[in-house]
Amino acid sequence: MRVLKKFRLAPWIDGLLALIYPEICMNCQDALIQHERYLCRQCVSRLPLTGFENLPDNPVTQTFWGRTPVHFAASIYHYRKGETLQKLIGRLKYHGDPDSGIFLGRLAGKTLIKTKAFPQADYLIPVPLHPRRQRKRGYNQCEMIARGLSEVLAIPMEASLLKRTVFNPSQTRKGRYERWQNVEGIFETALPLDPFHNKHLLLVDDIITTGATLEACCSALAQIPGATISVVTVGYASRY
Ligand SMILES: [Zn+2]
Repeated sequence: MRVLKKFRLAPWIDGLLALIYPEICMNCQDALIQHERYLCRQCVSRLPLTGFENLPDNPVTQTFWGRTPVHFAASIYHYRKGETLQKLIGRLKYHGDPDSGIFLGRLAGKTLIKTKAFPQADYLIPVPLHPRRQRKRGYNQCEMIARGLSEVLAIPMEASLLKRTVFNPSQTRKGRYERWQNVEGIFETALPLDPFHNKHLLLVDDIITTGATLEACCSALAQIPGATISVVTVGYASRY
């Protein structure tokens, strides 16, 4: 039992070491050169791009077919257990490192800015956390990703338009139907809507799994007259 506990500590120690020695690539441990953070250039180039942004009928777009009208949808990287992206998202969500979200947002932005089909949206809308969870984490991880995207794409972020009204337990052990039931109707718009009439709103999330959370956000935004909705996530977790 004691041995098991020790093993469980290992990722945490890894994270701590990376914080103490931030000049080392968290994947290959090579020294980072100036202006590099988290990953060296080579390890950034090895992150598993999906290429979805160039495919109109990609698996993320298909998630929303028959559910909610989405203009453009893409995930930038495949998200797989034990890989570098999972470690980065882990730092962002569980190790109090908001800068890792800005880093991921910038990477995503650099891919999107080269994408012909990528729409020039009017606002980036991060998927909100319930205020209680945000207080606990200290920040909204999707807002950090949206900040990085905003820098690269020069699209303003509006983090107050959507709010999450129900505090939900973790979704990770639920199936698709349960997840959908769990989030249906939990998002609301929270600002005067006039400035958002006929605007293109780009929803930003960290990872898409079943799409239930994003669908619920889309339903809330679809109440805005003339709004066009697109979706981008950093990671795509395959369901198969
Ligand atoms: Zn590296």
